Amino acid sequence: MSDSTIRLDLRLGYDHGSGALSDYFRALAEGRALAGRCETCGWTWFPPHARCPEDGGTCKPVNLDGHGVVVSETRTRTRLPFTDQDREVTFVLVAMAGADNAAFGRLKNFSGANATGERVQLVAVAGPLGHPAQAAVFQPVEDG
Ligand SMILES: [Zn+2]
Repeated sequence: MSDSTIRLDLRLGYDHGSGALSDYFRALAEGRALAGRCETCGWTWFPPHARCPEDGGTCKPVNLDGHGVVVSETRTRTRLPFTDQDREVTFVLVAMAGADNAAFGRLKNFSGANATGERVQLVAVAGPLGHPAQAAVFQPVEDG
C-alpha cells in the first residue's frame, strides 16, 4: 500500500424485489420445480421465463417432478455470490424431466468420482442463502 491510498471496506444491503420469479424462488426453496411452458412453441423452461427466449410467447407456470440427469459438472472451491466463506462446490447442469433446456445448480452429498449421467432430484434447502437462486440444489436419486 502506498502513502496515497487508503483501504475502505464497504458493505451495501438493500431489499431487492424478486418480481415474476417470486413463485419460482419459493418453490425452489421447498425442493419443487416450477417451470414455464411457452403457449406459442410449447417449450418448457426451467428456470421459468415470463416470455419465451425463442419466440417471445407467453409462458405459463407448470410444475415438473424435480427429477433430471446431470449433463455436465464442475468441481471447485469457491465463494458463492453474497456469501462469506469459500467451500467445495459441485456445480451441475441438469436436463430436467419435462423441460426442454438444462438447469444450472449445485450437487448435494455427492461422493462419486463423476456426476455426469447421474439421476438427480431437486431438494429443499435449509438455512440462509446468499441469493434465492442458490436453492437450486440437487441430490443423487437412490436406485432401488
Ligand atoms: Zn416459445
